[in-house]
Amino acid sequence: MDKIICDVLVVGAGPAGSSAARVCAMNGLKTIFIDKRKEIGVPALCAEGIGSYLFSYLPEGIVIPKEQLIWKIEGIRFCCENCIIDKTGGFWDGYAVDRTKFDKWLSCLAIEKGAQLFTDTELIDLIQDKNKYVKKAIVKKRRNILEVYPKIVIGADGVDSKVSKLLDLYEEEKYNIIEVYSWEMKNLNLENPNLEQIFFEEYVPGGYAYIFPKSKTRANIGVGGFSSKEKIKKCFSNFLDSPCVKKQINGGIKIVEKSKKAVFGDVAKKNIFRNVILAGDAANHNLKPFVEGILPAITSGDLSGKLASDISRGKNISHNYHLKEFKKLMHPHHSDSKYIEKYIIKLNKSNKKQKHLLAFGLCIGLFELEKIEEYEAMNYEELKEILIENGM
Ligand SMILES: Cc1cc2nc3c(=O)[nH]c(=O)nc-3n(C[C@H](O)[C@H](O)[C@H](O)COP(=O)(O)OP(=O)(O)OC[C@H]3O[C@@H](n4cnc5c(N)ncnc54)[C@H](O)[C@@H]3O)c2cc1C
Repeated sequence: MDKIICDVLVVGAGPAGSSAARVCAMNGLKTIFIDKRKEIGVPALCAEGIGSYLFSYLPEGIVIPKEQLIWKIEGIRFCCENCIIDKTGGFWDGYAVDRTKFDKWLSCLAIEKGAQLFTDTELIDLIQDKNKYVKKAIVKKRRNILEVYPKIVIGADGVDSKVSKLLDLYEEEKYNIIEVYSWEMKNLNLENPNLEQIFFEEYVPGGYAYIFPKSKTRANIGVGGFSSKEKIKKCFSNFLDSPCVKKQINGGIKIVEKSKKAVFGDVAKKNIFRNVILAGDAANHNLKPFVEGILPAITSGDLSGKLASDISRGKNISHNYHLKEFKKLMHPHHSDSKYIEKYIIKLNKSNKKQKHLLAFGLCIGLFELEKIEEYEAMNYEELKEILIENGM
């Protein structure tokens, strides 16, 4: 059996893993990063929208090249029971990326700094010593089993984090995970191809449906919510059949399915455990309500990589320190996101008929966070009236 000795083993070469590997290598650590996919970024199970407000949160030295920004997004059209509200410019402005290229570009940044990438290589097991420190990782590269001896492990392996599961840190609960059913489609007749569209409707349980354009005639279309994949799949066909969507997809062709679970709450009990650090989705580092995680994962990976360097120099880092540092880095968006995460989960545990109206108002900033209890006390008709007054 082949053996590899390294300072850091990063599991996952998505945005969080590549960013973590990059900074570890920059800090002089012998860094291996592995991904079970044969080709980085493929398939791209994502709606591929990024907000330009997050560019300034990227780590020093990471500037997204123009060719990665494949389509300009001028804002978001929000729809709820025939009420339409457009939000454009500033916070709402962004781009579409192609994750099959974007994730490769990021992994190349880590390779350029000296990290070694193994694709088609899956983490199978983690062996701990008597003090629960990981001393060995078993990975499968195609048909070969390799033993990796790292000083530190970074788990950047996403929503189903094997690292978390092997260390018994993983806790999947109904409201921690959103099921997303989605397709990239072409030959569309988009109403305004430079606006993303997000729909809050009663038939989507606790979530929303979306159309995220990638060009004039191509878009990622999906539905995400707190329900089984089967139910969400049904919501997706209801969505395609709804009048304002039907006219835009008439003649549209499904190209590739992009369904995947998304992280909505803490899926790990701790983000740091002995010599293991979680990053990106595995650490619930995406922004709610829209699980915006591509750019936050880069910031999260960079933080975890820097902490790995500190740990390798003997510094003791706690779970709370990790949480605080990420909160500081993503200020104020992380705090707002945490509030919205808790509120949406609470809302979905209730049987309120108007819960999608409350979620809509909150997500578009129409109902201020501080006054949410006042809106909560209103009935369906009262809330609907406010939406109509503010809509187009
Ligand atoms: C359907 C959908 C649509 C989304 N749309 C958007 C959007 O439009 N904009 C946005 O900002 N965010 C979006 N998100 C969220 C975003 O995709 C994630 O937050 C982001 O990808 C997190 O990056 P990550 O590096 O933490 O994890 P990932 O991108 O999931 O990367 C994890 C990597 O780990 C690898 N891996 C997993 N297990 C193992 C193992 N055992 N061994 C080796 N490798 C392993 C995987 O192959 C993968 O490459 C969406 C999510 C979903 C599900």
